[in-house]
Amino acid sequence: MTEKTIFKKIIDKEIPAKIVYEDDLCLAFYDVMPQAPVHFLVIPKKEIASVSDIGPEDGELIGHLFAVIGKLAAQLGIAEEGYRVVSNCGVNACQTVKHLHFHVMGGRPFGWPPG
Ligand code: AMP
Repeated sequence: MTEKTIFKKIIDKEIPAKIVYEDDLCLAFYDVMPQAPVHFLVIPKKEIASVSDIGPEDGELIGHLFAVIGKLAAQLGIAEEGYRVVSNCGVNACQTVKHLHFHVMGGRPFGWPPG
């Protein structure tokens, strides 16, 4: 059996996290190494390794995750000025945790194109 990812351990409450929001389908918690004044992660409870592993059966789930992102961004006060949503996928994008997650960052300006 493969070892649980750190995010699966957070879902299973085996390790602590600063949880922002939770429902049956997803969990949102603050990143331990924030890259912006507001930086949280939104993850599905379903174990999906990355964007590349999302299937057609996950459409409703992914839609739900983005609805939660928008709601939390508004609640945490970053929606008006704007925020960035990022999902690193694979080695070149520096994905370190192989459990699908969306970084939601706000509270400062972000450059484009990214470095
Ligand atoms: P990525 O590089 O896209 O896979 O991002 C993984 C993110 O998870 C990084 O920004 C880490 O700082 C964050 N992270 C790792 N462990 C934890 C943890 N225990 N609680 C909250 N965030 C974490």
